[in-house]
Amino acid sequence: MAYQGLTTTYAADSFITDSAAAGTALSSGYKTNSGVIAMDPSKTKPYETVAEIAKKSGMKVGIVSSVSIDHATPACFYAHEPSRKNYHEIGMQLAVSDFDYFAGGGLKKPVSPDGKTDAYKVAEENGFTVTRTREDFLALKPGVGKVFAVSPELDADKALNYAIDGQTLTLGEFTRKGIELLDGPQGFFMMIEGGKIDWSCHANDAVTTIKDTLAFDEAVAAGLEFAARHPEETLVVVTGDHETGGLTIGFAGTEYSTYLDYLGGQTMSFIAFDKVLDEYRKNTSLGDARLEDLKEEIEKAFGLVILGDDERKRLDLLAANGDTKAEERLYFSLTEEELREVEKAFVRSMNKEEEKAGDKETYLIYGGYEPLTVTLTHTLNNKAGFAWTTYAHTGVPVPTFAQGVGADQFTGYYDNTDIGKMLISAVGARALTASR
Ligand SMILES: [Zn+2]
Repeated sequence: MAYQGLTTTYAADSFITDSAAAGTALSSGYKTNSGVIAMDPSKTKPYETVAEIAKKSGMKVGIVSSVSIDHATPACFYAHEPSRKNYHEIGMQLAVSDFDYFAGGGLKKPVSPDGKTDAYKVAEENGFTVTRTREDFLALKPGVGKVFAVSPELDADKALNYAIDGQTLTLGEFTRKGIELLDGPQGFFMMIEGGKIDWSCHANDAVTTIKDTLAFDEAVAAGLEFAARHPEETLVVVTGDHETGGLTIGFAGTEYSTYLDYLGGQTMSFIAFDKVLDEYRKNTSLGDARLEDLKEEIEKAFGLVILGDDERKRLDLLAANGDTKAEERLYFSLTEEELREVEKAFVRSMNKEEEKAGDKETYLIYGGYEPLTVTLTHTLNNKAGFAWTTYAHTGVPVPTFAQGVGADQFTGYYDNTDIGKMLISAVGARALTASR
């Protein structure tokens, strides 16, 4: 993209922001406290968002995310709530919204606590066509009216699967359909979030993060293709609401080297491997549990090889005689120290100790995640020369990219509230042109 900048992300009350405060800055141009959805820090005054301004000025509006559509970032564009955790209230604001296109994840709490109100039903009563299958989604054509397109498969948090685990509909497809449905003489504003990039960073799983970033890249490509067809009237901006995990290329154990080929061996997300482990735990008594039993599953999931002493000796011998297959297996095998950490984590996982995250020392090592799984992703990432500093967000600035009308404003070093302001001015300028 033609223009780049660097963006600070801090919240009104914290140097390290959450997605609610960051989303509010991007949608409204104002700072707020972490946890607050498009309202001021006192949680009394709603902030008008770029999406609402666009809608008011006659443009069509779409909101897309790979996480649940009532999650903090998407919510910051269409809802106003004192707490991001008010999922039902946020879902209800979506249901009565006059926006044109919601797509991606579902709703976390569609039904009210008293069981009387269902946000999906209210959305339909309010004119939304709700789709839940690939066929119904692909059949949507311009003129259909308001659409709420829910991913055919949803995880426990009502989000899309990770891209690495396979998706019936991708973020790119949700974006392309949005463009098809929203495009028209009145113009449109669309916010697309690759939200699961954040989640896999929380879990310190680099390969799953990379694959979800590539899935997000397909959405960006869709935007840029549209922009290429309408270069005089389109602005595309790509940014992060914050950094997560402190992922860095560079690890103390590998110094100046990287070994990216390790990453190619991973075939599933941390969450998919958690399920494999769950299955094993269900079918194995504590006394019978052996890491060896999971050897093949670990190799299949992460490409990491667990070798017994005898097999290592045998492979060493073969490798010394130029056997490249043996060499490769040794290359992907866990070292003694790595194996020790994996064994320790295996015992913790078998004892279901992930809930011990309250204990500071345990949290530092496993972050409240499944001990075996997070140890395997850490090991794989470190072998590749990648490292993580946290299971939460960080305060580092994020890159911002822009292309199209007014994109040159997005160069330099600025705050996330400036992005909100520049988007609002871009939408305002568009509305002015349209009314002339
Ligand atoms: Zn996060």
